[in-house]
Amino acid sequence: WGVVYSEVRRPCRVMILVNPHSGRGQALQLFSGHVQGMLTEAAVPYKLVITEHQNHARELVRKADLSQWDALVIMSGDGLLFEVINGLMDREDWEQAIQTPLGILPGGSGNALAASVHHYSQSPPAWNEELLLSCGFMLCKGLVGPLDLVSIHLASQQHLFSFLSLAWGFVADVDIESEKYRHVGAIRFLMGTLVRLATLRVYQGRLAYLPVKEAPRYPKGNAKAVHPPAAPQRPSLCSSLPCQQLPNASPNQNSHRNHTSANSNHNSIANSSNNAITTKRAEAQSGGRSGAPPDSLLAGLDQPVPEGWTVVREEDFVLVLAIYQSHLAEDLWTAPGASADDGFIHLFYVTAGISRPALLRLFLAMEKGAHLACGCPHLVYEKVRALRLEPISPQGMITVDGEMVEYGPVEAQIHPGLARLVCG
Ligand code: ADP
Ligand code: MG
Repeated sequence: WGVVYSEVRRPCRVMILVNPHSGRGQALQLFSGHVQGMLTEAAVPYKLVITEHQNHARELVRKADLSQWDALVIMSGDGLLFEVINGLMDREDWEQAIQTPLGILPGGSGNALAASVHHYSQSPPAWNEELLLSCGFMLCKGLVGPLDLVSIHLASQQHLFSFLSLAWGFVADVDIESEKYRHVGAIRFLMGTLVRLATLRVYQGRLAYLPVKEAPRYPKGNAKAVHPPAAPQRPSLCSSLPCQQLPNASPNQNSHRNHTSANSNHNSIANSSNNAITTKRAEAQSGGRSGAPPDSLLAGLDQPVPEGWTVVREEDFVLVLAIYQSHLAEDLWTAPGASADDGFIHLFYVTAGISRPALLRLFLAMEKGAHLACGCPHLVYEKVRALRLEPISPQGMITVDGEMVEYGPVEAQIHPGLARLVCG
C-alpha cells in the first residue's frame, strides 16, 4: 500500500516529537522497530525531534515555522501532546496554529489518546506494540478529523488547554503516585489503583456544571430516516489533494460509517450544540481575552456559578473526573459513548461512602466499558459543557491530561472541534 500512497498524494512532511524517557524509556527503540519502516514504505517524509527536557516540545512548537509541517506527531504518552497543544495555543497565530493536524503514537505509560483513537476506528482492542502499529497505520493513511479541546482556568489565572481529562481525588492521586512505577508501562495504573484503594480517602469540595440539554429522541428505528447520516468528513493530511482510501484500509472506513449511522441522533445533537457555542463565541469575540477563544460559558472563579448550572449537593467525593475521549488509559474505557469531537465533557463523580470492593469493581468493569451498568449508587455520570470544581480539602492533587497542575479552584469549558487529529 505504500506504493499506492505515494502515487496518489504528495508526500506529507511530519514532525515527530519523541520523549526518550516516556513509558519504559523505550520510545526511540519502539519508533525505529515498528514505525520507521512503515513511514518509509508509505513515503511519508518525517523529521525526528528528540525532546531534551520537560517543556522542550512546548517551546519548540511555540516558535516553529508551521508552514513547514503537515502534521505534528507525538511519540510519547499523553503528557507530551499536552505540551504541544499548549505550545500551539501560546502563539499569537493560535487560531491557525491549532489547525495543524496532531498525531499520536503510543510510546508512554499513559496512552489514553492513542487507545481512544484506535477505538474510534472501530478496530478490536489492541495494546502495546499492536496499538502502536494501528496508530502508525493511521498516520500513513493520513486522514484528519476534528478534536475537541477544553479550556481550563486555575485560580492563579493560568489558562490551559486540555484534550483528555481533568481529574481530582482518586484518579488524580493514582495518576501522579503511579509515575514512580512508569518502568512497568501501562500496568502502572492498576498498581497505583490497588495502592490507593488501601489508603482510600474522601475529598471535600464543591462541584457545579452546565448540563447538556438533550434534544428529543426520535423513535427507535426511525433515527436513520429522520436524520440520514452524512458521510464522515475526513480530509486528508495533505488536503490540497482529495483523500484516497487505500485498498486494504476500506473495512475500517465502512465500519466507521456504520458507527456514524447508529449514532445519528447523537451526532445531530452534537452538531446543533457546536453551532450554538460557535455563535456564542463569535458574539463574545470582541470582549474576549486576546490570545485564546473566549470562554463564553464561564463566569470567572471570583463570580457566583452562572444561572442554569447544576450545583451538586454532595460535598464529599472519592473522585471527580471530566473526560472528553473514550479512554482514560489503554485498558480503561471510561466514557463509552465519547468520540473525538462530540462536543461533550463526560463528567463522572463518585461520592463518599462507596466501599473499597465496589470501587475496585468499577475500575475492573471499566476495562470493558461496563462500569455504568454496575448499578453503583455512588457513581454519577453527566454530559456537560462546562464545570467548576472548588476543593475544600486543603491539600490534594488535580491533574490535566495526566499532568499535575496547581491545586485549587478550577473552571473548564469545551471548545468543540478546536484542534485537528490524525485518526482512522
Ligand atoms: P508517560 O506516559 O510515560 O507519562 P508522557 O508523554 O506523559 O509519558 O511524559 C511524561 C512527562 O515527561 C511529561 O510531563 C512531559 O512533559 C515530560 N517530558 C517530555 N520530554 C521530556 C524529556 N526529554 N525529559 C524529561 N521529561 C520530559
Ligand atoms: Mg504522562
